[in-house]
Amino acid sequence: MSKKPRYRRSLQRFGRLAIERYLLTSFNDFGLAEPILRALVEENYVTPTPIQAQTVPIVLSGRDVIGIAQTGTGKTAAFALPILNHLYTKRMRPERKSCRVLVLSPTRELSGQIADSFRAYGRHMKPLAIELAIGGVPINRQIRGLAHGVEVLVATPGRLLDLVHQRAITLNQVEILVLDEADRMLDMGFINDIRKVVAMLRKERQTLFFSATMPQEITKLADSMLTNPERVAVTPQASTVDRIAQRVILTEKSAKNDLLVETLKTETTDRVLVFTRTKHGADKVVRHLQKSGFGAEAIHGNKSQNQRERVLADFRNGKLRILIATDIAARGIDVDGVSHVVNYDLPNIPESYVHRIGRTARAGADGIAISFCDHEEAAFLRDIQRMIRITIPSIDKRTGVRPAQRPADHHQASNRPNRGRTQRGHGGNGGGGSGGQNHGNGGNRSNGSNGSNQGRSHRGSQGSNPQIPRAEASPGEPNSIGTVTFLQRTGNRTPR
Ligand code: AMP
Repeated sequence: MSKKPRYRRSLQRFGRLAIERYLLTSFNDFGLAEPILRALVEENYVTPTPIQAQTVPIVLSGRDVIGIAQTGTGKTAAFALPILNHLYTKRMRPERKSCRVLVLSPTRELSGQIADSFRAYGRHMKPLAIELAIGGVPINRQIRGLAHGVEVLVATPGRLLDLVHQRAITLNQVEILVLDEADRMLDMGFINDIRKVVAMLRKERQTLFFSATMPQEITKLADSMLTNPERVAVTPQASTVDRIAQRVILTEKSAKNDLLVETLKTETTDRVLVFTRTKHGADKVVRHLQKSGFGAEAIHGNKSQNQRERVLADFRNGKLRILIATDIAARGIDVDGVSHVVNYDLPNIPESYVHRIGRTARAGADGIAISFCDHEEAAFLRDIQRMIRITIPSIDKRTGVRPAQRPADHHQASNRPNRGRTQRGHGGNGGGGSGGQNHGNGGNRSNGSNGSNQGRSHRGSQGSNPQIPRAEASPGEPNSIGTVTFLQRTGNRTPR
């Protein structure tokens, strides 16, 4: 380990602390209304997060915002607090079957969490009608909930359009539109629905647009929706990744189920979040774990809303220790005390890797991320390591590798110019298993696909492996690495 990266890391940390101290003093400085401040005291929020410090004053000034931030950064309060302040200072009864604030979010879970946050921060501002319009639950209750008009409607795009078509709501009264996780909306095929919704809104409105990444299509969408927006950004930082003890286990695809069982038996775990690429894959893993005597459940888009809520509640309250999830289903899920993230399948989008492992190191906690990498995923691993600029320690448990190849691989790896760094705190075996070798990138080379994939884009990586089932999410664009601290979501704070 050279001293340079460590020095750089300390500098980065020092810089972040200095910025936070300088920028962020207290919520009182924003000039928010007293009932909101009171709720924040009750929530134990003392210091605004960087995204809040940047965003709240801009939203209060009435300007449009384009925010590059992901869940876990305090983004929800960054838009919810100034919006509540607007509703407090410009009180008026919403018209029947209308809403004053519309928040669009890609998933039911995230929508529920956003609505909960509005209720929590706005709990001293009664009366305030906050409704949720999401699929997977009967629509009639939602129709009734909208009949007298609401201040805030949090919706997934499909259900919102259903409600519009059933004349349960008109959108021409919307004063503030929030589009959350726009890149996921794109991945999930919601862009046309969003365009339809935006076409129903009046032009004189404030628009707050949030996305974790800004691929070209998202930039285009933002340009079409926003007027002279102010840009704010906090993006995942390597130091978040640094706090997580990461390791890769090189394995055969067919051995992954047994490897997972072995991992669960040998690791001291609290809560384990296992990621698979597909819904079908998630169900298969659950069946195998259950057969092996582990209590495990899956959460993904094919499950009913009730099932998803029950499974999540069990995971939160500790009844369920192992949760299998796909990337999309896991978006917006924040659960305390996830000790391990296991990437049963490696994601083809490096950023999804950062999102996934970020679930285990929230609120300054450390965590462990273990990734199974089979022959076909070698290119994904390389893309991930390039993005996080860390060579993740690896253990080779492949049985199909000819022993003669190993020393050569190792030699290649160690002679290779290391643009990144090897993660601290790991020996050659990465702290797990026995008899493995730390191949780093070199471990991937031995399968022959890595060299030929050098420099290929994520789309290319996917394309090079047509036999790999498509991820639920299509590729986004890699992000630059900036500064962000992930926060712990504390679950539902106010009853619905
Ligand atoms: P979000 O990124 O909006 O999902 O927020 C992640 C978690 O951070 C949630 O549980 C929030 O309650 C919590 N949170 C947001 N802002 C703050 C803050 N300023 N101080 C402490 N916790 C916060």
